[in-house]
Amino acid sequence: MRDRTAPHHHVDDFPTMKLLIFLVPLLLPLLAIAAEADDRPNFVVIYADDLGYADVGFNGAKGYQTPHLDRLAARGVRFSDFYVAQAVCSASRTALLTGCYPNRVGILGALGPQSRHGIHESETTIAEVLKSRGYATAIYGKWHLGHHPQFLPTRHGFDDYFGLPYSNDMWPKHPTAKFPALPLIEGEKTIAENPDQTQLVTWYTERAVKFIDQNRDKPFFLYVPHAMPHVPLFVSDKFAGKTERGLFGDVISEIDWSVGQIVEALEQNGLTEKTLVIFTSDNGPWLSYGEHAGSAGGLREGKGTSFEGGVRVPFVACWPGKIPAGKVCREMAMTIDLLPTFARLAGIDEIPSQRRIDGLNIWPLLSGQKDAKSPHEALYFYWGEGLEAVRSGNWKLHFPHGYRTLAGKPGGRGDQPGPYQQAKIELSLFDLAADPGETTNVAEKHPDVVARLQLLAEKARDDLGDSLTKRKGKGIRPPGRLPEESK
Ligand code: MG
Repeated sequence: MRDRTAPHHHVDDFPTMKLLIFLVPLLLPLLAIAAEADDRPNFVVIYADDLGYADVGFNGAKGYQTPHLDRLAARGVRFSDFYVAQAVCSASRTALLTGCYPNRVGILGALGPQSRHGIHESETTIAEVLKSRGYATAIYGKWHLGHHPQFLPTRHGFDDYFGLPYSNDMWPKHPTAKFPALPLIEGEKTIAENPDQTQLVTWYTERAVKFIDQNRDKPFFLYVPHAMPHVPLFVSDKFAGKTERGLFGDVISEIDWSVGQIVEALEQNGLTEKTLVIFTSDNGPWLSYGEHAGSAGGLREGKGTSFEGGVRVPFVACWPGKIPAGKVCREMAMTIDLLPTFARLAGIDEIPSQRRIDGLNIWPLLSGQKDAKSPHEALYFYWGEGLEAVRSGNWKLHFPHGYRTLAGKPGGRGDQPGPYQQAKIELSLFDLAADPGETTNVAEKHPDVVARLQLLAEKARDDLGDSLTKRKGKGIRPPGRLPEESK
């Protein structure tokens, strides 16, 4: 029996309903987009500073433990052959954030308080790519792509910033440096000078955890570039004196704690299976600091060189349910690959930039697709503007170049560095599969390989330039400069 109080529905009586029936087919694609949006992962990148290949438990660290990093590796994939583009802070960070070789975008070396350039406004950072699709974005830590306001993270895609604009040794109390006060920046404002560096890891971690809590319901990109273990080393009371390795081990323990806090925040917010967490480093160990430096294990040399100890870094990626647990990927990849990979995972087919980038999608490697190969025919290793080496497959060819080395002597003690010497390497081919330590030049045995890698290098020189052979690159772009310096 009909309930007489109920309205007698007929479409014609209800203009609103009619409108809805008309609108629903139009709205469906939007609803589909909304549903799809829920599937987009969060991205967390934790980036250590001057942490060497062998400074994490899963790569054999000695004298301290990294249980949180090891757990991340056990639940995800680690790469044995993951690289930074250049073994120094600003250049390396620029590559990670723009997906470009730093030479392409004109940021080399390590910018300091006197620098008058930074990331160009027309370059596109990971944060800008993701923010354009509604991601919340934050950086808590060391920026190093320019400290003047127009170069700061808040002008390059990050909603929130708290940290140092450049290296933590660029402060007046560092034994080997004379610098003005080291600023701690929040947003675009300097909130402290010469901050208590023992608290940096704690502060960055607390902000990271808060950001995760606050953004549990929307996709986010969280970038945590720790200032440690770059010298001068500092650790909070929580970890001071806790390891056999001394201050360096204490500092790594605190970074490991930070990783644990971030992972726990994701777990508590139910985001573990919606979040890709990556941990890596900006370059190898600063070997001259001896006691206060890390280790590249069996790899040759360290920070500031194009040998494996400088450019090969620990890398782990964890995303339960999407990345198989406990795998090791032995294909080569580089930090420049993160931007296009994240873009693809966020459902962005075309990166919103007219500018060419160098990175390639490595999701097939991360997700352990059967027989997946590195998408790169070659990776290029510049120091400054000089092309020092190229890797293709397991072959690495060094071009004649000078480099710094301890030449078998010990590094410094305490916070004092030991002296580097200058050395020179001639044209040398190494088979990294058999000889990851780059000890045995096999160029004479493999002239065909040398010729092939020379040809690849020629392409890079034409595109990105090379000061060693006095070449100007056709594909390089200028950095951003302060107005009075622009031409
Ligand atoms: Mg560094």
